[in-house]
Amino acid sequence: MEKKIKSGFVSVIGRPNVGKSTLINQLLGERITIISSKPQTTRNSIRCIYTDEKSQIIFIDTPGIHKPLSRLGEYMVNAATESLKGVDVIIAVIDASLDITPADMDIIEIAKEVKAPVILVLNKVDKIEKSRLELLLTKFSTDESHFDCLIPVSAKEGLNTNVVLEEIVKRMPEGPLYFPADITTDVTERFVVSEFIREKILELTSDEVPHGTAVEIEAMREREGGGIIDIEANIYCEKDSHKGIIIGKQGKMLKEIGSRARIDLENLLDCKVNLQLWVKVRKNWRDNNSILRSLGYK
Ligand code: GDP
Ligand code: MG
Repeated sequence: MEKKIKSGFVSVIGRPNVGKSTLINQLLGERITIISSKPQTTRNSIRCIYTDEKSQIIFIDTPGIHKPLSRLGEYMVNAATESLKGVDVIIAVIDASLDITPADMDIIEIAKEVKAPVILVLNKVDKIEKSRLELLLTKFSTDESHFDCLIPVSAKEGLNTNVVLEEIVKRMPEGPLYFPADITTDVTERFVVSEFIREKILELTSDEVPHGTAVEIEAMREREGGGIIDIEANIYCEKDSHKGIIIGKQGKMLKEIGSRARIDLENLLDCKVNLQLWVKVRKNWRDNNSILRSLGYK
């Protein structure tokens, strides 16, 4: 019989800079875990997967949720709520060291509407006085707030992050191991990025082209100061005619591949992406082992 564990999907929401990425990194700790993976649906993409003996937590990105930077209108709350369907637990993060903004208050609106339990993480408590924390705890624990629990956290210092993990697992349903425990170890971020680009080629070109296509990430680096990642990738195809199709009339097709891939990559990497694509013909690339390896295939 299949061994039952606690497993499910978690979405981490909150304004930029509140510490979502830092928190996720802390939760995952030393475990080698992929940053992201192919989207399971057009709406959500896997950000990372936590697996231990008793549980598997799949953190997903719900793209719509990152967009509103200021107060959500009713429409946006609906859109956000819609995108959070199917999630088992929502982690809402606020920066406790800053004044609470209307955008933070949107989280309350969302918590009210969604079915899934919402855990409110008051992050960066290392920066605040105890009295302020008490004030915030009181403010957010009223009946109107609809939070399932409140956890003061310092993601940076790892304070209470174990509690966050416990509280997530507590609220997860029994379920299967959706992904093998070691899924992450043989997939590099570059490979995932190349798969994203390849996916767009599949989406946009005719049948014969994609199967002879591979994408190699030539360079991927974050610009100094952060906030933007430059990615250079080669698209290899087997015939000159395929190259023509992929580039398209006046480069239209390649432009479309690039812009679709960029949107997904930005969601995936949680960062602006500058993507440059080159199309190259490499006959019989599939027979070339060293190329295969550099593309991430075993
Ligand atoms: P995100 O945009 O929500 O993913 O936020 P990040 O995880 O990128 O964090 C934004 C900034 O806040 C970074 O400079 C972090 O080092 C910092 N930060 C995150 N968590 C904490 C915390 O608990 N305490 C302090 N002092 N800084 C934090
Ligand atoms: Mg982030």
